[in-house]
Amino acid sequence: MTNKTKGIMGNSSETIRDLDNSFIADNYRGGIVLNTGAADDQIELAESACPTKALTSAKGDYKDLQVDHGKCIMCGYCSEIAPKLIKMKNKPDNPTQTKSRLIEQLVPQVQSSESYEQIGIALKNKIHKMFGRSLAIRQIDAGSCNGCEIEITALNNPIYDIERFGIHFVASPRHADVLLVTGPASRNMEIALKRAFEATPNPKIVIAVGACACSGGIFGDTYATTGGIDKIVPVDVYIPGCPPRPQSLISGLFLAIDKK
Ligand code: SF4
Ligand code: SF4
Repeated sequence: MTNKTKGIMGNSSETIRDLDNSFIADNYRGGIVLNTGAADDQIELAESACPTKALTSAKGDYKDLQVDHGKCIMCGYCSEIAPKLIKMKNKPDNPTQTKSRLIEQLVPQVQSSESYEQIGIALKNKIHKMFGRSLAIRQIDAGSCNGCEIEITALNNPIYDIERFGIHFVASPRHADVLLVTGPASRNMEIALKRAFEATPNPKIVIAVGACACSGGIFGDTYATTGGIDKIVPVDVYIPGCPPRPQSLISGLFLAIDKK
């Protein structure tokens, strides 16, 4: 059995057991960490292995190596080919309010250590204060592979059960406070996304979910895609990941409400 097959089989194990606990299984691929003590000779290898051009180094020097977490799909190729330079970490990257903050140089991101449950309760209190009752989300698939939708669907399952925090999904943008958008967006979805944005009442919040919505991700910027939903509609929060787990989704929602 190859290492890659073993890795895929390992990922099928349960990744969260207790929502009150921020425990994440060791084999979960949440993102990458740049090793500050690494040699320059692995930079070119890592850059050429990256399918989404998330890793770049203008001068081929370690000091100007940067990773765009909005483009990283956590495939792990860079850490396989340049293990001294890059390691995978099991903690996901945090959502951000600006795209530039998804780009990391040598300064590691501070990870949120709060559990899904803690963020959910804080979010519920905030929604109650700001909206009086509940928060309505319209999810828009702007050409995703459906991986992000599986995680979004998990928010409604009996484990994560996001409705208990006063958040529910609605069938029309006219009834929504938040647009949760996935996908790169494909050219075919450009007009539909614009119309959904226009139909959503003010003050509306737009959240880009996953590497595709943040930057085009694995689909990139091609004749068929636009290279990120912020080319079409203004974005309030970017949630990196491929796909982002429920904890990242709820952190992104919290950040978006905080911004308004
Ligand atoms: S994990 Fe994959 S997508 Fe992310 S930087 Fe490494 S090679 Fe690129
Ligand atoms: S970010 Fe990853 S999981 Fe989400 S739509 Fe893109 S490829 Fe699929």
